[in-house]
Amino acid sequence: GRLELVVAEFDPRRLVEDVAASVATRAHEKALAFRVQFESGLPPVLLGDEGRLRQVLFNLIGNAVKFTERGSVTVEVTHRPVERDRVLLEVAVRDTGIGIDPGALPTLFERFRQADSGITRRYGGSGLGLAICRGLIDLMGGKIDVETEVGKGSTFRVSVELRRGHSLQLVTNDSRFDTELVSSGGSRILVAEDNETNQLVIGAMLTQLGHSYELACDGLEVLAKLQRGSYDLILMDIQMPNLDGLAATRAIRALDGSAGQIPIIALTANTMVEDRQTYLEAGMDDHVAKPIDAQKLARAISSAVELQRQSQY
Ligand code: ADP
Repeated sequence: GRLELVVAEFDPRRLVEDVAASVATRAHEKALAFRVQFESGLPPVLLGDEGRLRQVLFNLIGNAVKFTERGSVTVEVTHRPVERDRVLLEVAVRDTGIGIDPGALPTLFERFRQADSGITRRYGGSGLGLAICRGLIDLMGGKIDVETEVGKGSTFRVSVELRRGHSLQLVTNDSRFDTELVSSGGSRILVAEDNETNQLVIGAMLTQLGHSYELACDGLEVLAKLQRGSYDLILMDIQMPNLDGLAATRAIRALDGSAGQIPIIALTANTMVEDRQTYLEAGMDDHVAKPIDAQKLARAISSAVELQRQSQY
């Protein structure tokens, strides 16, 4: 059980969003409401063992989804200044699941313990996850605990004290809100893509992420659909017949009102820096390379939608 922490700078918000994105599919499959909330002013850079924190959060959020059949799973990230350059980061994972019997609580964080052997038969698992979480959090000098009620749900809380980091290129987080809601699904997306296989692949990914979507086969169809429907975001292929992605983007940016401000993410095989500049100059907000990585797509969508939401205030 000997472990050493690997301490480096990381963006706590990105970390939580990544873990949430990887569990979101299962939450959506179970029709659970899945929310991630960040308290405003969360430090953009902290120093800590990101990999181990990821493991802990993955376990807690994964368990919350696993042991909840209906209702919601909410992840809440808060922080409190401690000393000059230190903050207490707290992540609460709240579920409306089966809860844990009080008798099981004293040994819950011990190795190979499962709260109930009948539950284990039904849900599977090794009983190691929480023990490992406790071990890692102890190593970080932090705390992990749970409040739970059988049949009502559980809240697991992790808190660790971390030093602030300084990397300027990571400093992007200047939220003006008390709490922000980042739902990993639920956006209405217009997909501009002429290739049928790509349409299927992208469609499947979006459905898995809990988004709804409509297809457009070229830039002209995108413009026509924008006139009629309302969407949260456009995923735009670059090479399309009739009106390509860049020309369509320029045309959209020339529109009045909110239609002209819709977030547009380029989907393209070109990943060269010069190309990226061309997309941004045309008015696109971001870029995801093909073949598309579902996680990168999820992250690009949620940050574009979130930025848009913030800019509307
Ligand atoms: P496992 O690999 O079995 O899931 P864990 O150590 O992660 O192991 O969890 C131990 C036990 O604690 C689980 O088997 C389950 O009985 C209970 N448990 C953990 N998280 C929750 C939760 N969110 N809701 C209800 N029970 C939970």
